[in-house]
Amino acid sequence: MLSGVHSEPDLTGIARLAAESDLLEARRVVRYFEIDTRSALNRVRSGMPFTYSLNPYRGCEFGCKYCYARYTHEFMELRESEDFENKIYAKRNLVPILAGELRKVRPGEIIAIGTATDPYQPAERRFGRTRAILEMLAGHRGLSVSVTTKSDLIRRDVALLAKVAEHNTVTVNMTITTLDVSLARELEPKAPRPDLRLRAVRDLADGGIHVGVFPNPIMPLITDQEARLNGLAKAAREHGARYFGGGPLFLTASTQRVFFPFVAKRYPQLLRRYRERYENDAYLKGPYLDMLRARLARVRAAHGLAAAPTMRQQPTDEAQGRLF
Ligand code: SF4
Repeated sequence: MLSGVHSEPDLTGIARLAAESDLLEARRVVRYFEIDTRSALNRVRSGMPFTYSLNPYRGCEFGCKYCYARYTHEFMELRESEDFENKIYAKRNLVPILAGELRKVRPGEIIAIGTATDPYQPAERRFGRTRAILEMLAGHRGLSVSVTTKSDLIRRDVALLAKVAEHNTVTVNMTITTLDVSLARELEPKAPRPDLRLRAVRDLADGGIHVGVFPNPIMPLITDQEARLNGLAKAAREHGARYFGGGPLFLTASTQRVFFPFVAKRYPQLLRRYRERYENDAYLKGPYLDMLRARLARVRAAHGLAAAPTMRQQPTDEAQGRLF
């Protein structure tokens, strides 16, 4: 077993764990490591549509230009922009740690799998961390679980997700930012094509899973046109999606370093406006948000789609007080 990627002697915390992690497998550019896990569930700040996040991997090979999670690799002192997509860490011992932590989850609290990195990225084909979690959750009752991905690898687990859904609430958010294959390839270089993601939506819906499409992040003047959103919502509905999310792009400094060169190359005429909008504030504000909200409402109404999952946790007999 080879050692990890660092040799610095004074690293602490997660950076130290990363430095000491075992190299599991190397494939040309991408290297896979195993990293110790201290906790599985991460309680998120209030205002989010879920209570806990759960990410089986650190880093994500899909390498989306807009990925907001790039900064998470900086906690491990991995600061090159390619590190996030080329050094992938599979978390060790997730299942036993999660089993212990589930005792603190209250009825109706939502566990969101895949909020910072994709749980069905290529590493999952090799290491099966997400599948192991779902197998464990299938033995529980009364949980609310959501999975967010842009990978059709989730088709592998449709039957397992249905099993989890027998006694828990399960929703799947499939992220599709555009139906334009060439744009998708540039924006999300290693993610499955949009049509493959739609096929996964169809399989999930046919498998009885409550599934929706997230066009997030919606990128001003790139993917926010009403005709584009309308086409995407129509395709989502035709493939069995029940809801259509929608949130605007936000760009932290570490993401700007990757996204702006993409804009400069593909949309040079937009670069100045992007810089003006985002350089001093990662979040868009003002009338644009109202316009986008109204546009999404029209698009959803045209296709009979909700804005978010419509399922709500139904407390089970044993969900009085604690879940277990
Ligand atoms: S799939 Fe998600 S986590 Fe992975 S690179 Fe793209 S945006 Fe980031």
